[in-house]
Amino acid sequence: MSLKEILAQASSEKWAVPHFNFSNLEILKAVVEAARETKSPVLVGTSEGERNFVGLPEAVSMVKAFRESSGLPIFLNADHTKSVEAAKQAMDAGYDSVHIDLSALSFEENVRGTTEVVKYARDKSSEISAEGELGYLRGESKIEKKKIEIRPEDYTDPEEAADFVKKTGVDRLAIAVGNVHGITLDEPKLDVERIKKIRAVVSPEVALVLHAGSGIPDEDIKTAISAGISNIHISTELRAEFREELEKSLHKKGEAEYAPYKILEPVVEAIKQKAVEKIELFSSANRM
Ligand SMILES: [Zn+2]
Repeated sequence: MSLKEILAQASSEKWAVPHFNFSNLEILKAVVEAARETKSPVLVGTSEGERNFVGLPEAVSMVKAFRESSGLPIFLNADHTKSVEAAKQAMDAGYDSVHIDLSALSFEENVRGTTEVVKYARDKSSEISAEGELGYLRGESKIEKKKIEIRPEDYTDPEEAADFVKKTGVDRLAIAVGNVHGITLDEPKLDVERIKKIRAVVSPEVALVLHAGSGIPDEDIKTAISAGISNIHISTELRAEFREELEKSLHKKGEAEYAPYKILEPVVEAIKQKAVEKIELFSSANRM
């Protein structure tokens, strides 16, 4: 099944395809093991920083190898790509999906750049799924002891969203509905009515994407899915597992342990458990 077909199924059956970010083999391996155990489709992604570290062809090859060995629908997304050029590079390298994020630009510039990326994707392959973003998402994928203020103009406007989708032809739309990247001092408050309004006016073939799923209470995630979200991003919570478990493991194994695979084994296990938890929350288990 293609990513587009899976997203269409998720939208009609009211569940969400998980999107997990990775920047090394261990996190990717943990996510794939979680998907294997739960029989869930997954989208794995690299931001520009993450893919510069891993390498584009390297990321494509690793995901391809895991897809073949697991027999699972695992797709690779170029997350938060900030230029048309970088989006084209990711598609040329073999990414299955691209997220062009020109949300910091004006509506017209965002439409122009996103349309160019969608056209490039279509010319390349009908299988590539293209995501655009409208509205402004604050924060970074980390744990921060501060509050992040969301301004009224940050939120995605439903009418503008319908217009954006019509003009650009995107397959997925990332929206700003009270979500912020990272885990901050105050719990994000999702504007569920806004999700419903956007869902009602945007073409039903277009999947609505909730970025920054880390830190949002489970009940709110479920409400967001029933309001029309069919793709949810998790990054910070996996990063936190990586860092915290690595510190614990180094401490526990002591100075005598030098084998990276022994030090990293409990780290992979902890990330896997976190991914399983999210897959169950999104109801994407046993869908394939
Ligand atoms: Zn994001």
